[in-house]
Amino acid sequence: MHEINKATAELQEEMARRIALNPGGTRRIGNFGFIELEETWGDEATIINTARISTTNQRLQNGHDFSERDRALLYQLLRDQHGTPFETVYFRFRFIAPIFVLRQWVKHRISSWNEFSMRYRKPISVAYVPDAAACTVDGFAVLDEAAITEYEALMAQLFDWYERQYSAACSRIDLARERGKLGPKEGGRDPYRGRARELLRNVMPVAAYSDVYWTVNFRSLMNFFKLRRKKDAQYEIREYADAAFALFATRLPLLAETMQRVIDESASAAADTVQGPSGNA
Ligand SMILES: Cc1cc2nc3c(=O)[nH]c(=O)nc-3n(C[C@H](O)[C@H](O)[C@H](O)COP(=O)(O)OP(=O)(O)OC[C@H]3O[C@@H](n4cnc5c(N)ncnc54)[C@H](O)[C@@H]3O)c2cc1C
Repeated sequence: MHEINKATAELQEEMARRIALNPGGTRRIGNFGFIELEETWGDEATIINTARISTTNQRLQNGHDFSERDRALLYQLLRDQHGTPFETVYFRFRFIAPIFVLRQWVKHRISSWNEFSMRYRKPISVAYVPDAAACTVDGFAVLDEAAITEYEALMAQLFDWYERQYSAACSRIDLARERGKLGPKEGGRDPYRGRARELLRNVMPVAAYSDVYWTVNFRSLMNFFKLRRKKDAQYEIREYADAAFALFATRLPLLAETMQRVIDESASAAADTVQGPSGNA
């Protein structure tokens, strides 16, 4: 195991702190992954109230006491895909995930992203390492222990190479300054060190971790759950989507339960269309 850099050690401490502060709203994933549902805006009552503007002045005052009519309305809105009431409820997640997971996640365009920058900071010096479950398909290990040992060594080499080159670049810049070949540093950021980081990050693998704030409305979050919790989504993003769903379900249980019912019903209707109701068409 190679030595992790200072920023990575700080991030590790921060994850532990967030878990202690918000145990029900956080999850660790894989060897360095993390997800937290930091904030939500609105709830089931928000959805029901905004939908009811079409027909009545009656509004729910809180998100706890739902009548059968409220529950039925929520179900019907979800089933019939009445989109806009679901755009009134927002979530902000923070997650630390490998870059290859982020590349899939960012395809969900209807959301806002703020990501850790390797232009301004050194990389998080830990790479995702698949565990035995991630390496196994139907009981068959597609990568064995020897392959994973080499994989880890390769990742460690990349992080070590980055550290060596960055520290060499910083020494060159400092020396040139001492000799008057470069002007003194002005303001907060050093453009020479910044350019070195910009170039050196090119060797970072897609298994390197990144850190993201993801702000998303419920309509888009539901689409993410539908697509990324399905069996055909890649194992790693599924782990994050399942964790995000569990955190969301703790916060808004009625919405989670009703959404899952509609997704299951539509999946079973789709299976019936393909196979026929008796399963033999
Ligand atoms: C199993 C799986 C495999 C995949 N493989 C690949 C792959 O090989 N390569 C690849 O590039 N992507 C791949 N994707 C990503 C996929 O193509 C979608 O980009 C991703 O799932 C995001 O879905 P979305 O567009 O519905 O989400 P969002 O971008 O969040 O959009 C939500 C909805 O808004 C509407 N919308 C958004 N933007 C527009 C627009 N410009 N015009 C009209 N309507 C819009 C659409 O109704 C859309 O469904 C894969 C996804 C899955 C689940």
